Amino acid sequence: MIARLALALACLPLCGADFAIPADYLREVEPPPFWVGDVDGVARFLETRVRKGKVTRIGVSAGGRPILAVSYGTPRLGKGTSTYSGSLGFGDIRAFLGPQAAKKVHVAMAGVHGGEFEGIVGLVNLISVLESGKDLRGKPWPAIAEAAAAIDRIVIVPVANPDGRARVPVRMLAHRGEDHTVQEYFNTGGRRDGKLIGWPQCKEHIPLDFSTTQFPGGYPNDAGVNIQHDDFLSPRRQPETEAVLRLASEERPDLMLNMHTGASFIQPLRTFMAPAMMPHFDAFYRRVRGRLAREGLQSSDDPAAAGDPARERVMVYNLDTALHLVSGTLAILVESPAHGFSRSKRTGAPFRHTPEDLLNAQLLTHEEALGFLRESNGLAGWNPARR
Ligand SMILES: [Zn+2]
Repeated sequence: MIARLALALACLPLCGADFAIPADYLREVEPPPFWVGDVDGVARFLETRVRKGKVTRIGVSAGGRPILAVSYGTPRLGKGTSTYSGSLGFGDIRAFLGPQAAKKVHVAMAGVHGGEFEGIVGLVNLISVLESGKDLRGKPWPAIAEAAAAIDRIVIVPVANPDGRARVPVRMLAHRGEDHTVQEYFNTGGRRDGKLIGWPQCKEHIPLDFSTTQFPGGYPNDAGVNIQHDDFLSPRRQPETEAVLRLASEERPDLMLNMHTGASFIQPLRTFMAPAMMPHFDAFYRRVRGRLAREGLQSSDDPAAAGDPARERVMVYNLDTALHLVSGTLAILVESPAHGFSRSKRTGAPFRHTPEDLLNAQLLTHEEALGFLRESNGLAGWNPARR
């Protein structure tokens, strides 16, 4: 009986109240109405505001929370004649994509790390645009609506790691000038003495034993695993990982974005993937960062300087690599600036992204991503099998 009770308690989802977070860190500001970025707020939004899209549960987290997706349009129907790996050996990805290889499919997800709210807020507002033409401020985004209409299928996963997001018990942090301590604490966690675990030290222990921490941060799910670095090829992989890998495998998306927070200005990162995909990453990078520079939302206002992809080194093998390897997708992690602290522009001039700026940067990124996909040849034309 006691053993059963202990098991039941161990399976209860964890929340912020289970940890001794310093009271000052919990200081919040009342978020503007468009800032929908917590698990319950997102679920409420999906339930009450999605009419054109279809809301589905693509999985259940380690802590028992649903992982929700919204889809628009019709997927690639029919299967190919080969596996993705087989299509690479054959030399043409169309053998994997199947009879509707020419369709365009886009997937975007956020909240892989629970302390990173900007991408979640961005995707909720993107859904609002797809539903009504306007974001939650009432601002119209006609270019998003137009590009989306030309894409056959769009799937959005606003919170891929609901355990991590639910553990971070704030909706909007107080702004702390240039001090990133609190943001970092909610991301990578604090050791038992309260000192930051820090990045990349947070990756030394996967799974993370929460009893070694004061607060484990928003990176891991309730099983302690940062799914950005799960054991992808193992049958023991986490349910969140399983859900997004299955989604990629079934949808076979041309482009798949993984929205994070962790840069001074919006920064797409170069995934470890087939070399044939790199020119397309470069084109995406130039387009997104160039646009943001023209809008004053980059470290440099010069689109050529801000949009130079040569600065982006190939990352290590991670979730985005795994998503690429199950589907061929051009998988790109996009880092956002944070709302809780600010950095300077390249000139040294201090620059504070307001919550409005952060949302604009997110939606401009999605506008350029959709435009990029619409105008490109897509996965069938990029053909990662090309040597
Ligand atoms: Zn992250």
